[in-house]
Amino acid sequence: MTTIPRIKGWCPGAWRPMATGDGLLVRVRPPLGQLSRQQVVALCEAAETFGSGLIELTSRANIQLRGVTDASWPPLMAFLVEHQLVSDDPQAERQPQLMLAPAWQVGDDTHTIARLLQTRGSELAPMPGKIGIAIDAGKAPVLCDSAADFRIERSVEGGLIVRADGYECGTAVNEPEPAVEQLIRLTHWFVDSGGWDSGRMRRHTAPLPDWAPADTAPASPGEKLALGKHSEGRVVGLPFGRVAVNTLRAAVSPINVSALQVTPWRRLLVKGGDTLPTVDGLIRHNSDPRLAMDACPGAPYCEQASVSTQPLAERLSGWVEASVHISGCAKGCARQRPAALCLTGREGRFDVIVNGRADSAPVKADLTESEALDFIRKLNESS
Ligand code: SF4
Repeated sequence: MTTIPRIKGWCPGAWRPMATGDGLLVRVRPPLGQLSRQQVVALCEAAETFGSGLIELTSRANIQLRGVTDASWPPLMAFLVEHQLVSDDPQAERQPQLMLAPAWQVGDDTHTIARLLQTRGSELAPMPGKIGIAIDAGKAPVLCDSAADFRIERSVEGGLIVRADGYECGTAVNEPEPAVEQLIRLTHWFVDSGGWDSGRMRRHTAPLPDWAPADTAPASPGEKLALGKHSEGRVVGLPFGRVAVNTLRAAVSPINVSALQVTPWRRLLVKGGDTLPTVDGLIRHNSDPRLAMDACPGAPYCEQASVSTQPLAERLSGWVEASVHISGCAKGCARQRPAALCLTGREGRFDVIVNGRADSAPVKADLTESEALDFIRKLNESS
């Protein structure tokens, strides 16, 4: 564990950390999207001891530790393996990422399919690193807005379908086992038909094979987990997907908390934690304006950023009654869809974009932070 394979522009993992503006970023995939209370405590200790103490939740429901150094990475990995937060086999994280519909129950179709895929993961074709699989087999699909290349979902008739990204419909399958069989076959078709060149299923232009007809519609999308009380505990939000270890520790401190379920929506389901203590640094109410805001890590966390983003997002919170995106650069990692208001950093200054993406044409360019705030204030007054 002495040589750190540095990567850029690729999906980082724990065994393949990514060099960023504040050190190495180590990404952990919680098995089945869940962490026991003991694992959460261990994760907090790992972030504090070997990193900067910041923990992030990604839009693919992964956990990131920031600020790891060349020297602290080897003992961090040993610690994560010891606490079963990372496999001791570096090849395991080369398998496609599985994203489960949050709030799955033991024995339901989502859980059954995920366990089958854990067992049969090596039968999936080796695919590009960004390929992901959504297991979304609850009463209604809830991961429709989350990036995935292949999905197992509930159909409009109530059965299961396997759907390739880019297609509105999927192939009907009866039960979890045939669904996994179909998915494995589809991944091999993807690779055999040039999937490594296209990189993602959405960009793959080869027609689906005859045995995978896209003829069965998914059920109408269900709701994301709302903040507040839940039948299994309580749902809380993380401002811009980031949390400090002390906040996370406090969130799992009540003795009845058993586990944390991660989600792709910057929300955590604290299982058993129906009476959480008041903890600074968590969002507890569905009316919190930060839920409609996106902000990437920005400077100093990302080398591409010339401006700080999340503190500005906090300052802007509540100013605009619509979607807001603060982006450290035109890449727009935090939000690919247009936002009502977007501020994009460029050479230490900001471009202001209305109803657009981070790379859209600005209505006003090259502003300091205070000039940008003044401009937004005037926009508000005139609307
Ligand atoms: S949008 Fe730019 S600054 Fe923000 S995380 Fe992505 S690359 Fe970094």
